Amino acid sequence: MQLNGKVAVITGAASGIGHGIAKRFAEAGGRVCIADLNLEAAKAAAAEIGDEKVAIAVGMDVANEAQVQAGVDAAAKAFGAIDILVSNAGIQIVHPIEEFPFEDWRKIISIHLDGAFLTTKACVKYMYAQKSGALIYMGSVHSHEASPLKSAYVAAKHGILGLARVMAKEGAAHNVRANTICPGFVMTPLVERQIPEQAHDLGITEERVVKEVMLGETVDKQFTMIADVAEVALTLAAFPTNALTGESIIVSHGWHMN
Ligand code: NAD
Repeated sequence: MQLNGKVAVITGAASGIGHGIAKRFAEAGGRVCIADLNLEAAKAAAAEIGDEKVAIAVGMDVANEAQVQAGVDAAAKAFGAIDILVSNAGIQIVHPIEEFPFEDWRKIISIHLDGAFLTTKACVKYMYAQKSGALIYMGSVHSHEASPLKSAYVAAKHGILGLARVMAKEGAAHNVRANTICPGFVMTPLVERQIPEQAHDLGITEERVVKEVMLGETVDKQFTMIADVAEVALTLAAFPTNALTGESIIVSHGWHMN
């Protein structure tokens, strides 16, 4: 699977899964725009990948329309096209619903759903004009399954699937496809933070959170790795036709099977 100079905007790519996808895309001959709230970390990630012909960094809050537009325009100006969007930026906040602050609910919904909407809108302007593109959304097993304490996250991740399916239909006329990747638990800073929080909220040890809550339903009690998710993203980005569209691909060691 090769990207042959294709340009990808990857949100939340200063850390974790997005960072791994950016590295994998560059290895496969792509050019990447690392768009992240944390500009310093985005710059460091871009510098690690290559010079500005291969990787650039933009500061972007995906929930801010002006920042999204400016960041996508900057990537198009630097590289001359936008071929791939990986809408990946995300956060996690866990609480039982009766204690869930409305502000935290709004924050999760906004970063995941407003972020996916705004980045899609900004990127399809370029994709529709050039009559090609691949939209890739970072869903989760929680796009298909529910877990206690995660009302906002599960609602947001189910919403991502809906947006991706609409984009598969709207994008088809413009040769743009849309798919969702649904990982199980991947050991990134987002998950590391959840272990003590869930242990506290569920009243169990951190070891039990990992073994029972996070990996209990997998077929082999293994974490999904960043590299696994990056490989699926590369397949979706480089796929030669639009046969693969409107799909959600679950990469979770069998935690959820479609
Ligand atoms: P991470 O915390 O390692 O990285 C998230 C990145 O997003 C950070 O660099 C952060 O600065 C950035 N970010 C946060 N808010 C932002 C905003 N408003 N605008 C722009 N950037 C912002 O997290 P991760 O585990 O790599 O998660 C990436 C995506 O994968 C998320 O959408 C997450 O829901 C999803 N996911 C993660 C797992 C997992 O187990 N780690 C599983 C399934 C899905």
